[in-house]
Amino acid sequence: LDTKLPKVGTTIFTVMSQLAIEHGAVNLGQGFPDFNVPERLIEALDRAMREGKNQYAPMTGIPALRQAISAKTQRCYGYRPDPETEVTVVSGASEAIFDAVAAVVRPGDEVIVLDPCYDCYEPAIDLAGGRAVHVPLDPQTFAPDWNLVRAAVTPKTRLLMINSPHNPSGAMFTVDDIAELTALLRDTGIYLLSDEVYEHIVFDGRVHESVLRYPELRHRAFVVSSFGKTYHCTGWKVGYCIAPAALSAELRKVHQYNTFCTFAPAQWAFAEMIEAEPEHYEQLGAFYQAKRDRFREQLLTTRLKPLTVPGGYFQLVDYSAVSDLDDAAFCRWLTVEKGVAAIPLSPFYEVPPSGQRLARLCFAKNEATLDAAIERLQKL
Ligand code: PMP
Ligand code: GLN
Repeated sequence: LDTKLPKVGTTIFTVMSQLAIEHGAVNLGQGFPDFNVPERLIEALDRAMREGKNQYAPMTGIPALRQAISAKTQRCYGYRPDPETEVTVVSGASEAIFDAVAAVVRPGDEVIVLDPCYDCYEPAIDLAGGRAVHVPLDPQTFAPDWNLVRAAVTPKTRLLMINSPHNPSGAMFTVDDIAELTALLRDTGIYLLSDEVYEHIVFDGRVHESVLRYPELRHRAFVVSSFGKTYHCTGWKVGYCIAPAALSAELRKVHQYNTFCTFAPAQWAFAEMIEAEPEHYEQLGAFYQAKRDRFREQLLTTRLKPLTVPGGYFQLVDYSAVSDLDDAAFCRWLTVEKGVAAIPLSPFYEVPPSGQRLARLCFAKNEATLDAAIERLQKL
């Protein structure tokens, strides 16, 4: 077959989860919580289904949820997007990313991505006929070098994709990054796609610099988030995109023929949950910070060296004291021989930095799961 996606195989997340199952490994690979969603959300979902809210939702999302998202955005970022024209509910951040890229990228366009970047970006660009232009983040801090980003801009640049807090490193944009980004995009027609799925998982008093806080950025941006991360339900696949009316209209043209609408009962449940328990997302950073801190302390008793984690729910570890294998081989060995599944970083890169010895561990887990993993990692 003359494939349209010659570089694509099965995702590393699927591969490592499968390997974890086969070998009975503690799965700290694919990013998902192993604890349940808030009780209120289950009750609200159950109620919505019993009340018969089981047919097609409005294409753009039920009004109650779009209003709740809009009000929450106002509370968090001081900006109230119009729920009618600027908020669209979609089937996960993945769909939002796919729809946004399909909506604006034309054949021959260039899209700048910052490596390491989440695995679905480049296939979406390829399918739209665009070309991903990879700019490396700093290999130690995972901060952008704005001179490199500026140098990658050409007349063909149509879109820049950013992700803060960052998967896989947890790095976060600072106000200085926002200033650089703003200056870089000023007087260009380049669109921005800001992947903010870990927006509420931020640590040590840091502030999430949402693009939505900044008028000059948000007027050209698709801002994407996911209830999967915020409400511990990655399998429900509900997310949303906030974008100016003209961009939302383009995104909706794709969404309406891609999925048309998103799982209706869950939309009612999220609308209720967001309004009734704002403390859930307000306290999410503290909830995960306790996990991060405990896991880090435990890792210090192993030969893996934990890197700093400003946000998100992944811990990068340097394994160079344990092994000289490349990261893909190391993660496979760790899963098969040592019983802990991890994610290598190389699939997040066009060209992985040579000699990089980093693996990603997910700490969105119960203490018992992390304890079991640590017990195995102490034997390395
Ligand atoms: N972007 C990033 C950075 C992610 O980590 C994820 C979740 N794995 C997604 C997008 C996709 O989110 P969703 O599961 O809501 O499609
Ligand atoms: N976003 C998740 C991660 O980074 C994986 C999601 C998926 O498996 N597609 O681990």
